[in-house]
Amino acid sequence: MYNRRKFIKLSSITASLTALSASSIASVLKTEAANHPIVISTWDFGVAANKEAWKILSKGGRSLDAVEAGAKIPEADLKNHSVGRAGYPDRDGHVTLDACIMDEQGNCGAVAGMEDIAHPISVARLVMEKTPHVLLVGDGARQFAIEQGFKAEKLLTPESEIAWKKWLVKHEYKPIMNSENQMPGGKYNHDTIGMLAIDAKGNISGACTTSGMAWKMHGRVGDSPIIGAGLYVDNEVGGATSTGVGEEVIRNVGSFLVVELMRHGYSPQDACKEACRRIIKKKPDTVKEIQVGFLAINKKGEYGAYALHKGFTFAVCDAKKQDLIIPGKYFYETVKD
Ligand code: ASP
Repeated sequence: MYNRRKFIKLSSITASLTALSASSIASVLKTEAANHPIVISTWDFGVAANKEAWKILSKGGRSLDAVEAGAKIPEADLKNHSVGRAGYPDRDGHVTLDACIMDEQGNCGAVAGMEDIAHPISVARLVMEKTPHVLLVGDGARQFAIEQGFKAEKLLTPESEIAWKKWLVKHEYKPIMNSENQMPGGKYNHDTIGMLAIDAKGNISGACTTSGMAWKMHGRVGDSPIIGAGLYVDNEVGGATSTGVGEEVIRNVGSFLVVELMRHGYSPQDACKEACRRIIKKKPDTVKEIQVGFLAINKKGEYGAYALHKGFTFAVCDAKKQDLIIPGKYFYETVKD
């Protein structure tokens, strides 16, 4: 008998199916309204990197190719002393480079403390694609790069050598706030490019590359080549990257934290703010002297950033504008030299 109970059951199934299809339609509409392709990067020098990435993204290319191509721009820039070739050396005079890359499938690769190879981001990509590993360090990374056809060359430029020798006079072992915005010549002692891109298919990838803290201890590795710290991508949710004093980012697994917060509904900016707040909570005194900045993008192409101190900037490039620079929000007004 077609009784009342069966009827109620049937109508509730129909109602949920209707609701389901309405929500799927809404999510399709949302995806269509998402802002991509788009690429964002840390600091003002992200503009040039974004423009290179945009050449790939605007033609429908893959976000992984875009972030690799983009990251190679500051790596090759002889005026940039915090990334790649011409990066300032450690306190013993060695230029040691760190980088990592992550794609939309959660694949990742990294190199740390690698000497003599100008494009660590491309070596990181090959670690991801050609080895069963995630991270190669020091001599092993260099050897792998050479086996893959990279040229070994001296990365310490005359200008970097002069700055290092100048530093040796006082050899003060201290990170300098917002050094990217300062003039080279001893003051410019850290900053990293972290890039996040969403391609026309809606797939997210990220890259992060640095020479790390200038005058660091030989063997010191910061957050930048550490997946989850300097960079993290989850294609369902979004991506995040960081710059600044890597030790504090590693302690809080910063970029992974930002992505997880976005998964739980935080906007990119609020997620970055909360990651900064965790650093402040653990080290309320130390944070007055150091800079850390986070940058994030979600699946819809919404982006945001937050830093401990004033001075952090990021660059945005999409179909509307290719050279936008945005000042990051921050907790402290302090700008130190
Ligand atoms: N995060 C980098 C490091 O700690 C440096 C920086 O971005 O300033 O090596």
